[in-house]
Order: sequence, then C-alpha cells, then structure tokens
Amino acid sequence: MKLKAAEEAEIACEIRKFPVEITQGELIREIRDLNESPSVHGILVQLPIPGHLDEPTVTAAVAADKDVDGFGALNIGELAKRGGNPLFVPCTPKGVMVLLKESKVELSGKHAVVIGRSDIVGSPLSYLLRNADATVTLCHSKTVNLPEIVKNADVVVAAIGQSQFIKGEWLKPGAVVIDVGTNYISDASKKSGQKLVGDVDFESASQVASKITPVPGGVGPMTVAMLLENVLISAKRIQEKLSQR
Ligand code: NDP
Repeated sequence: MKLKAAEEAEIACEIRKFPVEITQGELIREIRDLNESPSVHGILVQLPIPGHLDEPTVTAAVAADKDVDGFGALNIGELAKRGGNPLFVPCTPKGVMVLLKESKVELSGKHAVVIGRSDIVGSPLSYLLRNADATVTLCHSKTVNLPEIVKNADVVVAAIGQSQFIKGEWLKPGAVVIDVGTNYISDASKKSGQKLVGDVDFESASQVASKITPVPGGVGPMTVAMLLENVLISAKRIQEKLSQR
C-alpha cells in the first residue's frame, strides 16, 4: 500500500528486502549507507523484523532527519517534551490529529481518552492531544473500570487491537470516536472468509457518537497519507539545507 501510494504521489520508493538470516551488523551498515545517500529523504524499517535482530538497535540506526516514521528517540523525545520540536511526527497519531482538525473537533479543555499506550499509536497520540490542550487520560490493559473512564470522554481514541471491544453504551452521548484498530474476524459471507473490523463496535457506537471513523477507510488511509507528507517535509528540508551551502 505504501509503495502504491508513493507511486501515485510520484515519490520514488524502493523496497529493500534482505535475506532473513542477515546479521545485525550487515543490516545496520545498509541503513547507514541510506543515511548518507543524498538522494534518500526517508527511511523506514518495516516491522516486525526477525527475532535474532534487536529491533530498538536497528530502528535507532535510522538517522533522525530521515526517520519518516518518527519512532526514533530524538523525534519521540521532542514530541514528548512540552514545546518540543520533532523533525517528524509518527504517521498514525498525526493522521488522527488531521482527522480531528478537518472535522473541526474542539480539543481545548476537552477530555480525551486514549485506549492503548503503544510507542507507535497510543503514547505519541497522548502527547499530541495534550499539546492541543485536551485533558488526556491514557488507558491500557491494567486500567480499572475502563467503561467508566470512557463515559467521561468527549473524544475517545481506541488503539488496542481487540475487535469491537468498545461498546456504544460506554460512550457519552455526542462523543467523538476515532477507531485505530484493525482486526480480522471470520465472516462466512466473504470470499476470504474474514472481514476487517475496528476496536469499536461500530453498530452500537454510531448510535451514540456525534462523529465516528469507520474501519476500514478511516484512520488507515490517513496513516499512509501522513507517511507521504513526512517524506515531502524531509525532501524540502534537505533541499533547503543544500541550497544554503
Ligand atoms: P499494541 O499491541 O502495541 O498495543 C496495544 C495496547 O492496547 C497496549 O497498550 C495494551 O495495554 C492495550 N490493550 C490491549 N488490550 C486492552 C484492553 N482489553 N483494555 C485496555 N487496553 C488494552 O498495538 P498497536 O498500538 O500497535 O495497535 C493497536 C491497534 O491499532 C491494532 O489493531 C493495530 O492493527 C492498529 N493499528 C492501525 C494502524 C492504522 O494505520 N490504521 C496503525 C497502527 C496500528 P498494555 O500496554 O498494558 O499491554
């Protein structure tokens, strides 16, 4: 999907596939070559990677100014700091913020409940919502009384990877619901025998929410669009630096 979207946007995109037995040293050397290549504006390590490789070390090898996924320590650290200045914002959380902004959802002073605290979705999104002056509650698998917390939310973001887990009756009437989850469940009516659903029970939640994103077709396409935007931002920044020399 990323390759296809890049082609449509006329962004040159190359997928480098390595043998599964590649050593950590070899892979890191490959990444360093790309870091130094002036024709490369963005690099992402498609996860998961084989178990013999240390994921944090490999992803940390990507130069911060080409880390278009925004997962590296510098970018996440800057995002976590109040008034920080990340070079790239992670794509899915960034896409969620664009959806909220384009839908004119007021965030200042509102209670936003983010369910899921992963490094790629829940945690960075909690920083972005905080930066937009929402009061943020970050929930996870050890949270007690999740339905009660969700009931107080003006904005609910579900990113847990549990199919149709959040029910309409948990929601405050008029709440805005963003469903990040992508889960396959069996569906005999489909040729493939399965269908894609979110973390929110769309049928019941859409009766109560004022706005709700569908799965598929909501957050997913935004993630890809934000990745392309991050590459564009990077290309412009590198070009600007070169022209100042
Ligand atoms: P992770 O598995 O990394 O994290 C899941 C989080 O959800 C954890 O923080 C976990 O808590 C929490 N959680 C799990 N079960 C529950 C529960 N029953 N109640 C409360 N919290 C719970 O997932 P990701 O963040 O990577 O992804 C989440 C979902 O979003 C997945 O369905 C994934 O496919 C989808 N996704 C979609 C994208 C898109 O572009 N549309 C992009 C990225 C992800 P704890 O920390 O305690 O374990």
